[in-house]
Amino acid sequence: MKKVIIALLTTSAVGFAVGLSGCEALKQVGEEAQQLNLFPVSQDIELGKQVHDQIASDPERFPVLSAEAYPEAYAYLRKLVDKLLSTGQVAYRDQFAWEVHIIEDDSTLNAFATPGGYIYVYTGLIKFLNSEDELAGVLGHEIAHAALRHSTRQLTKLYGLEILRQLVTGHTDPTLIEQVALSLAVLKFSRSHEAQADEYSVIYLCPTEYNAAGAAGFFKKMEGRASPPEFLSTHPNPGNRVQHIQAKAQELGCRGSSTNEQAYTRFKYMLP
Ligand SMILES: [Zn+2]
Repeated sequence: MKKVIIALLTTSAVGFAVGLSGCEALKQVGEEAQQLNLFPVSQDIELGKQVHDQIASDPERFPVLSAEAYPEAYAYLRKLVDKLLSTGQVAYRDQFAWEVHIIEDDSTLNAFATPGGYIYVYTGLIKFLNSEDELAGVLGHEIAHAALRHSTRQLTKLYGLEILRQLVTGHTDPTLIEQVALSLAVLKFSRSHEAQADEYSVIYLCPTEYNAAGAAGFFKKMEGRASPPEFLSTHPNPGNRVQHIQAKAQELGCRGSSTNEQAYTRFKYMLP
């Protein structure tokens, strides 16, 4: 049964591409369909769960801030994520976990998402930003990597199909999951995945009250720094990044302009 569904999906994806724009698109969609087939969505969810548990069990390398000890900070962050999810634009809205966690490390300017929608934001990144739309833009970017399943594809490239085989059989080697967790924090995306995640960040923010190009403000600040922060080494600039984000917001006619700087400053004071 599974095979039949996969075959149907591939055929319709290919047919769609032919109708659209010829050879190159066909090749791309075909390749994507093939990669998607190799890693079923149910396994994104399973891998995400296992990586989440691994991260929770390794406070030395991942000092996750306790939600019980910092309920206000988590409530604030949760509200931001929910706002993006409730736009109806996020794929796997109801299937993925969409949990957000704060990692207490002021010296790291980074954020990452696991397959299946567990999002991790470092306090270093939160404190570096100035406004709510900037953080919403970054969260949108990370949500996109999970929803568009970029992280699953990158991990498949790194570890081959061994992970998938283990997940399917239910016998995952704990050291493999540990490696996956560690590599997610430093996983480097391709420039085309970056461009796509930037674009989707705008798509997610557009229906909200926020300035939909919030991520652009963040990248502008990042690029101005003398030493490139972790975020830029794992999320490389696809080229004209800031302009493309602003152009996308304009193209979609996004009208939101909220930056909520005061609320954002209060949020920073909720953190240790
Ligand atoms: Zn990225």
